[in-house]
Amino acid sequence: MSEHKIPRTRLPRDARLDTLAVREGLPAGPWGENSEALFLTSSFVHPDAATAAARFANEEEAFVYSRFSNPTVTMMERRLAALEGSEACIGTASGMAAIAMIALGLLKSGDHVVCSRSVFGSTIRLFNDFAKFGVQVSFVSQTDVAQWRDALRPDTKLLFAESPTNPLTEVCDIAALAAMAHGAGALLVVDNCFCSPALQQPIQLGADIVMHSGTKYLDGQGRVIAGALCCSQALVDEKFTPLMRTMGFTLSPFNAWVVLKGLETLSIRMREQSARALELARWLERHPAVQRVYHPALPSHPQHALAMRQQGGVGGAVASFVVRGSGAERARANAFAVIDAARICSITANLGDTKTTITHPSSTSHGRLTEAQRIDAGITQGTIRLAVGLEDLDDLKTDLARGLDALA
Ligand SMILES: *Cc1c(COP(=O)(O)O)cnc(C)c1O
Repeated sequence: MSEHKIPRTRLPRDARLDTLAVREGLPAGPWGENSEALFLTSSFVHPDAATAAARFANEEEAFVYSRFSNPTVTMMERRLAALEGSEACIGTASGMAAIAMIALGLLKSGDHVVCSRSVFGSTIRLFNDFAKFGVQVSFVSQTDVAQWRDALRPDTKLLFAESPTNPLTEVCDIAALAAMAHGAGALLVVDNCFCSPALQQPIQLGADIVMHSGTKYLDGQGRVIAGALCCSQALVDEKFTPLMRTMGFTLSPFNAWVVLKGLETLSIRMREQSARALELARWLERHPAVQRVYHPALPSHPQHALAMRQQGGVGGAVASFVVRGSGAERARANAFAVIDAARICSITANLGDTKTTITHPSSTSHGRLTEAQRIDAGITQGTIRLAVGLEDLDDLKTDLARGLDALA
């Protein structure tokens, strides 16, 4: 690459996160727009044939074709990299596309992966599907570091974790897993969906790659599907951009723009939504119809101290609870009654929205597991997950109390 580089925004070197969230990107265009432009163009025009040749030979950095480079996508990537504290970032069409790029870019036949058994369901399926390419996966306890160590093999290339998890908000020790991965010559990937860089920066804790579903808190208003990987410039240049060129996991400029603008309010949304989630969790803990509540900021949470250390003292906006009811059938009927009594909360398994969502994991996100696998994961028929949004807290309590009071 020559000195011909895509220019950087002029920001003070020591600009802090809240500033970067609003300002990092690309310099404004010739019109001086204050809000970032949406570049809906598939290709870019070169001034002459020689420049085109230099750009195609990678001798000059410039925008060429939106399958692998587009100014709006670049703005989103630079802003997210600034927030995660990573050298580089590459946007993808979805969170799952980001994980597929990790697997295709970093694994080959004979390689082995150690993965938390509590990660997103489609992540588990994706790694299992890679068996047909000769990649083996061991699934281990989210919270038991010794199980991760015991699963390591000479051919282990990747450790994959997500923290906190859905729906029980189990927290893994990112720094411990990073040290273990590096000791074994492997890379640690952390799915940072639930905290976002506003609360947790896995790269600072030693992780090599942060994976995002931009669909969740980065967009923040449930509008688009998007994803990203934050990592070193070398990984982006040598592993992921070549795959983007050949496989087209491309993030659309429009979706990138929505996420770019979402990042501007990420920090205040995460803090506000997390505060509401904690207040609801405390209130649920006192409700007679509730048997148990899961939220990392509750002192009753099994990894409370670790979570507070790792997540900047904030628990996140997801809380789960178990309604009382003896026997699986009764518990399920009670959970359904609480969900159906809600008039504000949306019945959907999505999360990261300003609208609070309520879901029954056993019959939705975790419906494909067997009952034994679910019990092993600690998810019962009485478990309800809330992804708390920005509605009035008292209205949310009233919404849940309608169903819960009828059970108590
Ligand atoms: C939603 C989600 C994904 C997948 O992201 P998509 O954008 O839906 O492809 C991955 N991990 C976690 C934790 C998620 O919640």
